[in-house]
Amino acid sequence: MQKHLFVLVGTRPEAIKLFPVINRLKAEKDVALTVCATAQHRHLLDQVLKLAKVTPDVDLNIMTANQNLDRLTSQLVEDIGEVLERVKPTRVVVQGDTATAMTGALASYYHRIPVSHVEAGLRSGDIYAPWPEEVNRKIVGSIADQHFAPTQRAASALRAENVPDERIHVTGNTVVDALILAKAMVDADPDLASRWDGVRARHGNRRIILVTCHRRENFGGGVLNIVNALETILKREDVAIVLPAHPNPNVHDVFAARLSNHPRVVLTSPQEYTDFVSLLSMSYLVLTDSGGVQEEAPTFGKPVLVMRETTERPEGVEAGTARLVGSDYDKIVEETFRLLDDEDSYAAMARTHNPFGDGHASERIVKALLDA
Ligand code: UDP
Repeated sequence: MQKHLFVLVGTRPEAIKLFPVINRLKAEKDVALTVCATAQHRHLLDQVLKLAKVTPDVDLNIMTANQNLDRLTSQLVEDIGEVLERVKPTRVVVQGDTATAMTGALASYYHRIPVSHVEAGLRSGDIYAPWPEEVNRKIVGSIADQHFAPTQRAASALRAENVPDERIHVTGNTVVDALILAKAMVDADPDLASRWDGVRARHGNRRIILVTCHRRENFGGGVLNIVNALETILKREDVAIVLPAHPNPNVHDVFAARLSNHPRVVLTSPQEYTDFVSLLSMSYLVLTDSGGVQEEAPTFGKPVLVMRETTERPEGVEAGTARLVGSDYDKIVEETFRLLDDEDSYAAMARTHNPFGDGHASERIVKALLDA
């Protein structure tokens, strides 16, 4: 029987981390491929799909205003189930820890279709941080029969949950493949390469701090602490902050109200992936609560201060390229100042060594998918 792979994408990070796999699969003659977008996040997903030249074969267009997890989950299971019934793929590929990944795995299980999980085995050990992603990822892990663990640590976490060794493939994280592809696009296109020239010209020798913040755990008090810390950091004349604000009003509105008029803050809408990658490469350090950004920054040797209490990606902290600061005002200010003022501390964290991947994860994943 011909292999028919069904790849699900719902959010920006899924599209970023799956486009290198999808584009490789498209080149394989012996495999039928269906790309299904749930569009859990419509605009941010479309930005990446367009850039990566991926046109979904099926689009569930699930996003509604004020979607809550209960409704989103039930709707996704139903809609994905219907498509699986119609398309009848031989295997479903999901990525990460989103509602799309979790419901995609569950619907596949109900239809008795095997599941491959890209970025398997990340665990914080706390089901409420990240919430609800920790449990989403565990549910996918309990259904999948092929687990693409980005690191040895992720593979060990799966073994500790009794996943048989032969079902685990240590592949590296595909985000590094995506980052390298995006950087090559920027370097080959003068228009993309000059996108931040205005910011460079305006801020001269100032050091650019790249900030992203969107996690639910930080909504409310956390975001306020973070914005207070940023205001203190901005008292220094030698820094500028670039903040592509996530559209979620819980974060966007706070940053806009407090920072948009500051002369050394560039508050922007979410950036195209290539523009974000250029920004990352020109920044001095990164303050983020994003999972993907933690994994990308070490490729460019950018120190990361992780604005989370705990991380399911401790490899960066262990490798010395990241440090956890939570949403703690004092820690954010102290660690940022240390990196700005102490050259040795900066050099120790700014090593270009990426513990999350080597840029060849998608090759390994496609090979394993073809062999399965
Ligand atoms: N990203 C982007 N534009 C932006 C901010 C982030 O393309 O304005 C990319 C970033 O490079 C990373 C991914 O989006 O690959 C991270 O997504 P997000 O922070 O939304 O989710 P998480 O990784 O925390 O699941």
